[in-house]
Amino acid sequence: MLSSTRVAAALLALATVVAAQESDAAEPIDPHDRVVEDMRFEDYDPPSTLVVEETEVLRAKYPFVDIHNHQWAMAAADLDALAAEMDRLNMAVMVNLSGRARGQSGYLAAVLDNVARSQPSRFVVFTNISFDDFDDAWTARTVQQIRDDVALGAQGLKIYKNLGLTALDTDGKRIAVDDARLDPVWAVCGELGIPVLIHTGEPAAFWLPRDENNERWLELKQKPERYRPPGVFPTFEEVMGEQHSVFLKHPGTTFIAAHMAWMGNDLGRLGRLLDECPNVYTEIGAILAELGRQPRTARQFFIDHQDQVMFGKDTWVPNEYPVYFRTLETDDEYFKYYRRRHAFWRMYGLDLPDVVLQKLYYGNALKVLPAIDKSLFPPIEG
Ligand SMILES: [Zn+2]
Repeated sequence: MLSSTRVAAALLALATVVAAQESDAAEPIDPHDRVVEDMRFEDYDPPSTLVVEETEVLRAKYPFVDIHNHQWAMAAADLDALAAEMDRLNMAVMVNLSGRARGQSGYLAAVLDNVARSQPSRFVVFTNISFDDFDDAWTARTVQQIRDDVALGAQGLKIYKNLGLTALDTDGKRIAVDDARLDPVWAVCGELGIPVLIHTGEPAAFWLPRDENNERWLELKQKPERYRPPGVFPTFEEVMGEQHSVFLKHPGTTFIAAHMAWMGNDLGRLGRLLDECPNVYTEIGAILAELGRQPRTARQFFIDHQDQVMFGKDTWVPNEYPVYFRTLETDDEYFKYYRRRHAFWRMYGLDLPDVVLQKLYYGNALKVLPAIDKSLFPPIEG
C-alpha cells in the first residue's frame, strides 16, 4: 500500500476547504498566510513525506501466545467473543495475569470455571498475592494460597510493581523485592513448576528531572503521578538490583521479567542478565518503541537470546497489535508508533528470522507453560 492514506487525507482536506469556501462566502484562507511561529512539542507531528514500501500486517505470521495480558472481569466475560477477537490477530492463547483481580475472594475460581466451560484451550490464568498485612504470619498464609490457587488451575504467579515501590510491611517499611520473607514464595513456585511473571520498577527516565533532557518528558507531563522523586522512592538501580538478586538466589524458579526488565534501551545489559540467569525469561510488553528505534541491535539481540524472550503486549487494545507484528516481522522504515508519550521518534522493522519469530511468538511460552495445547501451533522449523 503506497501512501494511499496520505492521498486520501489530502483530498479530504482539500474538499473541506472547498466546502468551507462555498458555504460562507468569507475570504478564502491561503495556507501560506498562516505561519506557525511557535507551537507545543506535542503539536509538532508533521506527516512524513517519505515514500517507501509500507506493509500492513493485521495478523501475526504464526499463532502466538500473549504472555502479558490483563482481563479484569473475566469471571462473567463472554470468552467466545473474546476468542473471536483473538482469532483476527492470530492470537492462539491469552495469558490473563490478573486472576485475582483486585483481590476479590472466589473470583479466581469463577474465572477458571468460566474458562473451563467455554474456551479451555485459549486462556491461561495467573494468580496474584497481596502484600497487605505483611507480618510474620504473611509468608505461611501466602504460600498456602499459592498452593491452593495452583490446585484450582492457576498456571503462574504475577507480581505487580507495587512490590519494591509502594508496598509496606506492618511496621510501615518498604518491602524490598528481595526481602527474605518472600523467599518461600519464590521457592514454592519453583517446587510447583509455575513461572513468576514479575514487574519491578518503571522506565529509568521516571527518576530523572522533568526537563528538556528527559525522553519521557511528555509522559511525565501527561501522567505526573509516574514521576519518582528522589528520597520518596528507591532509585531505579536499587529496585532493579533487588529483582536481579532474587533471580540469582532462586535458580530453581522460572521468572519472566516484565517489560524487558526496563532495559529495552540497553540491550547489551539485558543480554548479560539473561546470560547470567538461565532461569529468567523476558517479554516485550509496552517497550516496543525501544526496539523500533534500534532495528539492527534489537534484531541481533533477539537472535542471540532467542530462547529467553516472549511476546507480551500488556494492554488489550486489538488494533494496536499490528504495530507489534509490523515491527517484528517486516523491514519497513520510519513508521509511526501509536503512543507519542512512549516515542516521539519513528519505528523500523526488525525483519526477524522465522525460527526466532516462532520462539518469540509461542516456542518459549510453551516451555514455561506446559499445559498449553501444543496442537494449536506449528512445529518449530530448524
Ligand atoms: Zn501488566
